[in-house]
Amino acid sequence: MTDLINQIRNDFPALHQQVNGKPLVYLDNGATTHKPNAVLDAISEFYSCNNSNVHRGAHTLSDRATQQFEDARKTVQTFLNAAKAEEIVWTRGTTEAINIVAATWGRQNLQSGDQILVTTMEHHANIVPWQMLCEQTGAELIPVPVSAAGELDMDAFAEHLNDRVKLVAVVHVSNALGTINPVADITAQAHAVGARVLIDGAQSVAHWDIDVQALDVDFFAFSGHKLFGPTGIGVLYGKEELLNAMPPHQGGGEMIEHVSFAKTTYNGLPYKFEAGTPNIAGAIGLATAIDYLNGLDRIALAAHEDALLARAVELADQLGGIRPIGTARHKASVFSFLLDGAHPADVGTLLDQQGIAVRTGHHCAMPIMDQYAIPGTVRASFTFYNTLDEVDTLFRGLEKAKMFLL
Ligand code: PMP
Repeated sequence: MTDLINQIRNDFPALHQQVNGKPLVYLDNGATTHKPNAVLDAISEFYSCNNSNVHRGAHTLSDRATQQFEDARKTVQTFLNAAKAEEIVWTRGTTEAINIVAATWGRQNLQSGDQILVTTMEHHANIVPWQMLCEQTGAELIPVPVSAAGELDMDAFAEHLNDRVKLVAVVHVSNALGTINPVADITAQAHAVGARVLIDGAQSVAHWDIDVQALDVDFFAFSGHKLFGPTGIGVLYGKEELLNAMPPHQGGGEMIEHVSFAKTTYNGLPYKFEAGTPNIAGAIGLATAIDYLNGLDRIALAAHEDALLARAVELADQLGGIRPIGTARHKASVFSFLLDGAHPADVGTLLDQQGIAVRTGHHCAMPIMDQYAIPGTVRASFTFYNTLDEVDTLFRGLEKAKMFLL
């Protein structure tokens, strides 16, 4: 495994640098992942050779750009196992994808007295758009509780389900805790009461393959930059019948079929939701990241990520004075913790001085931080290009931080 990981690391130029005089140990993959050379090359090649606007069909470069852009959509379709490429809508990221559903499907389908279920472990991106929708429609947002270990209370979830619930919006993998939620089970139970399901897949896509048809989710959102692709590009998957019935959220070029002052008609899927010039290079970069991942043994790499997390848990036990936040049985490789007696921000600064990049703070998940009555955590989020040695370095760094701070 070590050889394979070292080989993979060679594909990621950003990993090979010194930070504060120390080799970079990048453990902030939950915030964003680094990009392999293949992605950097694809973006550069697009702008160097094929740069053109899409769907204009006027000349060869435009044809090439359109081909690559639409091929990228098909790559995402296959990656998610969506039934049709038309079900893949390009967005700026997870946040925009969720906001589109709230602003279109939500406004069309929700009214006073209806309910939306979320969990208390949601990222703000899967809370605030629903709060805004509730203000507009009079619907009610209900958070399903999470246990002290960071697991969704499935009994409480079942108790909250009734025919007033129109939408269940749940994070697949919590960015703050690492908890993996049982989304297939959640979806089946939600569908049984006639509710639709949106899954925030921002943190799950980087760890394993997603099958939206097997999960039977109605909407699935993710961001390219957390999947080794560029920033500013993301995806909203929606079932065709739902997307077809939804009104567009932005007007402009590309999303229309015919415009006149008497009446404008809208384009079909997915263009109805893609007003204006899209992030063409971003889409191509994201598809290249997916192609890159498809060339790796993702199951073996997921096992490697589990081993990284297990090592962190073991070393935390040995070091002492560490309070893990989020100890669910099913977890992705996120180690969120507090160092007793130290503020997370101070720990983060001391680690940064040693070249170790972690995230500190509330991780855009204030409600779950409130539940633990803490201002935030230190979060080390691992991905497959991290090594066991890097986990060891993190804990050597924490030992030093402990000596300095306590
Ligand atoms: N949901 C989760 C679980 C996340 O981790 C993030 C990013 N931190 C988002 C949503 C928002 O993603 P983006 O900022 O790329 O839109």
